[in-house]
Amino acid sequence: MTQSIQAIRGMHDILPDRVGLWQYIEDTARAVLTAYGYQEIRTPLVEVTELFNRSIGEVTDIVEKEMYSFLDRHGDSLSLRPEGTAGCVRAAIEHGLIQQPQRLWYRGPMFRYERPQRGRYRQFHQIGVEVFGLLGPDIDIEMILLTARLWRSLGLGELRLELNTLGDNTERQVYRARLVEYLRPYADRLDPDSRRRLETNPLRILDSKDPGTQEILVGAPRLLDVLGAESRAHFETLCAGLDALAIAYRINPRLVRGLDYYNRTVFEWITEQLGAQGTVCAGGRYDGLIAQLGGRPTPAIGFALGIERLVELLGQGNRSAHPAVDAYLVALGERADIESLRLAERLRDRLPGLRLLVNCGGGSFKAQFKRADKSGARFALVLGEAELERGLIGIKDLRAPEDQRDLDFETLVAVLADELSVNVVMPASAGMGA
Ligand code: ATP
Ligand code: MG
Repeated sequence: MTQSIQAIRGMHDILPDRVGLWQYIEDTARAVLTAYGYQEIRTPLVEVTELFNRSIGEVTDIVEKEMYSFLDRHGDSLSLRPEGTAGCVRAAIEHGLIQQPQRLWYRGPMFRYERPQRGRYRQFHQIGVEVFGLLGPDIDIEMILLTARLWRSLGLGELRLELNTLGDNTERQVYRARLVEYLRPYADRLDPDSRRRLETNPLRILDSKDPGTQEILVGAPRLLDVLGAESRAHFETLCAGLDALAIAYRINPRLVRGLDYYNRTVFEWITEQLGAQGTVCAGGRYDGLIAQLGGRPTPAIGFALGIERLVELLGQGNRSAHPAVDAYLVALGERADIESLRLAERLRDRLPGLRLLVNCGGGSFKAQFKRADKSGARFALVLGEAELERGLIGIKDLRAPEDQRDLDFETLVAVLADELSVNVVMPASAGMGA
C-alpha cells in the first residue's frame, strides 16, 4: 500500500468541526475593530529576510533560531513571516500610508520554528493591530479598551492585564548597563540562556522562567526607577486613564517583550487556564521602528493575539456544538433532482441568511431523512413527485414531534424566515443582489 503523507510537525489542519469557533473569533474581532475605525491590511506571507533582521533584531530568539528562511531560485534570502508588524510597517512606508495617522489590522498565519507544545505551534495565527503616527498615551489606552471589549464580546471574563514601560532608547541603555552590572557577579548561577543573554540581550533575562535566575532577579534594579520625566509622565497618564475607565491592570516591572523594537508601553493579556502558554495577546509601543526601516520618524503602537490560544480557551467553554445548516432538502424521484436545485436557488434568493443543504446523489426517503438528521438541520424540506404535482413543498421540524406539512412557496418562505429569524428579500428584487 502507498504510504500516506502527513502535515508538517507543528502545523495543523483546522477541521470543519472546529472552524465555527475560528469564524466566531474572527468575525467578532472584525466587528470590534471596525467599530473603532480600524482598517484591514493584507501583506504577503513571504518577505526578504533582511526586513525581519532589521526590525525584530539579530539577537532575538525569532531571528536567531526560529525563522523559516530559504534562498529562492534567484539566490535571494526570503523568510516566511514570523510576525505581522514588520510587513505592515514595510507596506505603510512603501505606499506612503504614514503621511497621516493610520489604524490598521491584519490576520493570518505566522511561522516560527519553535518546539511544538500546547499553545505553541510552528504555523499559528494572529490577529494584529498597528497604529502609526500617534504619540499616545491616549491611543495606548484606546488600544487596551479595544482588547477589553473584544474579550467581553467573546464572552471571556478571566483575562488579566499586565503592564510595564520600557522607557525610551537612552533610558533603556542606562538601565541595561545597570542590570548587567548587577547580574555579572551572579553569572555562574544564571541559567545558560540568561548567561548568554548577559552579553547579547540582557533585558530578556527579566523574562526568564528559571527559578534560580528569578531568585537573583528579586534584587535587580528596576527600569521604572531610571525613567526620565517624559517617559514617566506617559506611563502615569496611561495608568490614570485606565483607572478612570475602570480597566483593571497589574504593573509587572519584569514584563519585557521578545522583540527588540519595543519602547515605553508594553502590555500582555494573560489567562491562568492555558498552562505555560498563558499569554493570549501582547503588544506595545515601537516608536523607533518606522525610522529604523527607512521611513520618516513616526511613533507607533500595536499588539497581536494568538487565535489558537483563544480557540482553546473558548473551546473549554464548550461552544462548538453549533450546527452548520438550518434546512436539508430531500429530493425524491427523477424530476425532483433538478427541481430541488431550482427550488433551493429560489429559497436562497429570498432568504439570504438561510443555510440550506440539498441532498445530492439520490437515495430512499428513509436514507435521505437520516442524512438530514445527521446534518444537524432543524428542518427537512421535501420535494417528491406528489409535491411537484400539487406545487407544494413539504416541511418537517426534525427537532420536534410534529407531522410534515405541505406549503406553497410563499408560505414556506414566511415560515422559514419566522422560525429561523432570517431576513426575507421581496420577490421583485430577488436575485438582483438588493
Ligand atoms: P511567547 O512568550 O508565548 O513565546 P511571544 O512573545 O513570542 O510569546 P508575540 O510574538 O508577542 O509572542 O506574539 C503575540 C501572541 O501570539 C502571543 O501572545 C501568543 O498568543 C501568540 N503566539 C506567539 N507565538 C506562538 C506560537 N508559536 N504558537 C501559537 N501562538 C503563538
Ligand atoms: Mg515566543
